Amino acid sequence: MIPYTLRRSIRTRTVRITIRRTGDVVVSAPIGVPQIFITAYLARMQQWIASKLLLIKERAPDTRVSRLPGGRRDFVAHKDEALRILSERTKELNQAYQFSYTKIVVRNQKTRWGSCSRHGVINFNYRLAYMPDDVRDYVIVHELCHLKQFNHSRAFWDLVKQAVPNYKEVKKKLKGLTVG
Ligand SMILES: [Zn+2]
Repeated sequence: MIPYTLRRSIRTRTVRITIRRTGDVVVSAPIGVPQIFITAYLARMQQWIASKLLLIKERAPDTRVSRLPGGRRDFVAHKDEALRILSERTKELNQAYQFSYTKIVVRNQKTRWGSCSRHGVINFNYRLAYMPDDVRDYVIVHELCHLKQFNHSRAFWDLVKQAVPNYKEVKKKLKGLTVG
């Protein structure tokens, strides 16, 4: 059986399967529908789900994200490695800037690639470690530059540009890879 997330809601009237661009399978079901019915429905739809997942994989050949569907289990399996990869690369990219940060945290975020707190804690989506190098570097540099400029001002982008001269191009690429 393909792993899926079950969402029960009073507003849902039928059992419905949604497949996200990340490859996450989400099943929405009304509150009262018994689990056995949902399991049977999924079994019937198995082939359809498999064909959709294959399509997603083909459509995104160079984004390693499609191999990380992003469930809790994937996060747990990859978080240590992701933290190591991202910490090393952050250190390398920060050599030119020499900004100081408190620590780096990896998270299983659904909509964000990174963020930076005013206390100098940098959060990265763990999937970033498995993204194309230019995208990964851009997000790291973006968050690093927030340590100096806590905004998206002209001065901020000038800082980003120092390490990623083609940041506008990479930003566009990143948009096409947004998590679910
Ligand atoms: Zn920002």
